[in-house]
Amino acid sequence: MELNQLLGRIVDEVAPLRGSGVVADYIPALARVDPAHFGIAIADLEGRVRGVGDWQMPFSVQSISKVFTLALVLAGSDEALWRRVGREPSGNAFNSLIQLEHERGIPRNPFINAGALTVTDELISQVGDASGELLAFLRTESGNPDLRVDAEVSASEAAHADRNLALTHFMASYGNVRNPVATVLDQYVRQCSIEMSCRDLALAGRFLAAHGVRRDGSELLTRRQAKRVNAIMLTCGTYDAAGDFAYRVGIPGKSGVGGGILAIVPGRCAIAVWSPGLDARGNSVAGVAALDHFTTLTGWSIF
Ligand code: GLU
Repeated sequence: MELNQLLGRIVDEVAPLRGSGVVADYIPALARVDPAHFGIAIADLEGRVRGVGDWQMPFSVQSISKVFTLALVLAGSDEALWRRVGREPSGNAFNSLIQLEHERGIPRNPFINAGALTVTDELISQVGDASGELLAFLRTESGNPDLRVDAEVSASEAAHADRNLALTHFMASYGNVRNPVATVLDQYVRQCSIEMSCRDLALAGRFLAAHGVRRDGSELLTRRQAKRVNAIMLTCGTYDAAGDFAYRVGIPGKSGVGGGILAIVPGRCAIAVWSPGLDARGNSVAGVAALDHFTTLTGWSIF
């Protein structure tokens, strides 16, 4: 099936789901988004991008940013991070404190909040301005120099950060935070509040489909590292519904509470979908359905 035809078919298939689910409201600035938005974009290995629907409309990437900070940290320090963060699915809510005590301050994986806070802490140690480094990377890869942190979302998130502060302090009590807690939180909130469109995200995530090679042909990650980031996306990228996502969609994916999902078909393409209505686990209802149709129609599930 030709790509435009495929995208049109997906839009038709998910039309009845647009507006279903609940928009995240624990960060007040996110609660105002219209749940009926839907966009999808696909970037191929050559960096060509196509999309339909609201694919050029910026939204809050939230936890999708965690894929990129992880890649940047691994590019800078390779395996050292894994002394501080595990790589097993958590089976608990993304902001849960429970396992942290059992595992003595070592988060289960880099995509739950505790793990992402550790990754951000590591990136601060490497480069100082972690969110600035991230933004620069995303601007280059997406070819969009206008990408920015949404100041309203970051202020809103910073004002409702008790849980993330608690997680960071708790890890600090085990010696697993290197920088001041306030700095880690500030940088984490800024990275989550970056606004990107499906177009931007698909292009920025393309290097993961290209086995770690960036848009300019340079290597950010080795093949082995790219394989590993994709594996962690598959096993831990969609909150505690990663098993269901693998079952339905069958490719690595990372979702965020803004309703976006970045998904990777290794060796072929990166796909970004956005629809703000979330299911009970925090994944976009129409977004997961769109990716389910995508891998079924193309046969590009990795399974
Ligand atoms: N910034 C959000 C938080 O820490 C990220 C949530 C998400 O997208 O999973 O709560």
